[in-house]
Amino acid sequence: MDDLERMRKVIIRLEQRFPIREHHRINDVFSLLIATILSQNTNDRNSSRAFHNLIQSYEIKPAVLANLTPEEIRPLIKYAGLQDIRSKRIIAISKTVLHKFSGDLTHVLKLPFLKARHTLLSLEGVGPKTADILLNFFGGRAVMPIDTNIFRVINRLNFVKGRNYEKTRLTLEKLIPSEKLQEMHLLVIQFGRKICKPRNPTCFTCPLNSMCDYPKTLP
Ligand code: SF4
Repeated sequence: MDDLERMRKVIIRLEQRFPIREHHRINDVFSLLIATILSQNTNDRNSSRAFHNLIQSYEIKPAVLANLTPEEIRPLIKYAGLQDIRSKRIIAISKTVLHKFSGDLTHVLKLPFLKARHTLLSLEGVGPKTADILLNFFGGRAVMPIDTNIFRVINRLNFVKGRNYEKTRLTLEKLIPSEKLQEMHLLVIQFGRKICKPRNPTCFTCPLNSMCDYPKTLP
């Protein structure tokens, strides 16, 4: 079975296992940017708590956050950790979006793909994953954001070797139909958290075990 056929089966089995419901409740690009900054290097529960605290206290708008002090933001986002760095980053990015992009990133998302990505990557604290999330979820671009769960699952399934972001992204964009990229981004993350976990993956009951040689490598 070639990789394209294998991926086709992976998509079908993950869709059956994790029926798609409402995936994200954030409905504007700047809020998603702030939520993504809070989600870096922390788990979902803690980043959600931090984001919830922030939106309970302030409107998530560049003009609002740009005028706060780190002291005002820090206690609200402490659950996400790294609150010193993150509070300063949130203020810096809010100022940049406000002054350089008139407070609205939707114009950036409409630029040609490479230019849009390059512009997003120039924002403080925005790496390839964050840029690609914004481009996919709010720019409608055929790009696959890669997170740590996706790296792990895709390596174990032997679609890619190693953790090179661009190589992984481009490989998956060739194997997954463009209209399924967003769905697969979410499905593989869910699958990685619940089944193909970093430690003790539940290979025995895994819906993909007939296509995966990883269990044979285990002692
Ligand atoms: S068989 Fe195990 S390693 Fe392979 S995809 Fe399933 S859970 Fe992950």
